[in-house]
Amino acid sequence: MSEVQSRTVLLAAPRAFCAGVERAIEIVERLLAARGGPIHVRKQIVHNAHVVAELEKRGAVFVDELDEVPAGATVVFSAHGVSPAVRAEAARRGFEVFDATCPLVSKVHAEARRYADRGDTVLLIGHAGHEEIDGTLGEAPRQTVLVQSVAEAHTVEVPDPDRVSYLTQTTLAVDETAEIVDVLRQRFPTLRGPGSADICYASTNRQAALRAIADESDLVLVVGSTNSSNTRRLVELARGRDRAAYLIEDADAIRPGWLDAVAVVGVTAGASAPPYLVKEVVDALSELGPITVAEREVAQETVEFTMPGAMRSL
Ligand code: SF4
Repeated sequence: MSEVQSRTVLLAAPRAFCAGVERAIEIVERLLAARGGPIHVRKQIVHNAHVVAELEKRGAVFVDELDEVPAGATVVFSAHGVSPAVRAEAARRGFEVFDATCPLVSKVHAEARRYADRGDTVLLIGHAGHEEIDGTLGEAPRQTVLVQSVAEAHTVEVPDPDRVSYLTQTTLAVDETAEIVDVLRQRFPTLRGPGSADICYASTNRQAALRAIADESDLVLVVGSTNSSNTRRLVELARGRDRAAYLIEDADAIRPGWLDAVAVVGVTAGASAPPYLVKEVVDALSELGPITVAEREVAQETVEFTMPGAMRSL
């Protein structure tokens, strides 16, 4: 690329924060404003290192488990949700609890209870070890079986093939999940599941926006943290379309060598990444040569969630 030639930065839209993440962060912020620190949060409130570091500076204390929380403390459950066992433990220890579980995750929990109550085996499509999966599995652990891949869909065993339901993690890849559900439906023709898949609007839209920029881009940068499921799916999607793609925590992670012979850089961000990080990435790209910025918008998001009732007492 000659020095005067401008590079195009193609922004995906929607990108960055979703309504569930904004709500979860606001719950912690409002508690810190009303009570001051420390406010204990079980697990990262959302999977983003910058968000967590900012809240820590203001008095949030992130813990892995409730036994790290002192008696009488205020505890926030993260956006990814918790199992009934965690709720019960919090009640037993007498914590004041504020629940920042995304309402779309709570919806999946309710489905898990409903399907298990009618006697079905629940095939939960998702990734082992993810906090959301731990929480959903906990609703009916004896009746729920995790299915992580197409291969597992081919081999999963259930006690009664006529009484099977499925659920999905909210942040999965839309296409891969559809493939898994197809396999399950072939094996269990009476399979029942959520009318529309549980993959949330934010994950779906960010994947569609990624597809809209990827084919035009020589390189795709996805802003977010490595433990963010929906963010990792975006990188996989771009690579699946034969694009060079990198997951970057922030602008500091950009390697100038990535831009050699690159005329179009696609940029997006996972649902837990703050929008200001995208702006900083664009600014950093502009320091590496002239740029023109364009956007591909595939959907407008108007979703807003109300605050939990417990917040009214603040
Ligand atoms: Fe809720 Fe989806 Fe955002 Fe997760 S990614 S917090 S499920 S809206």
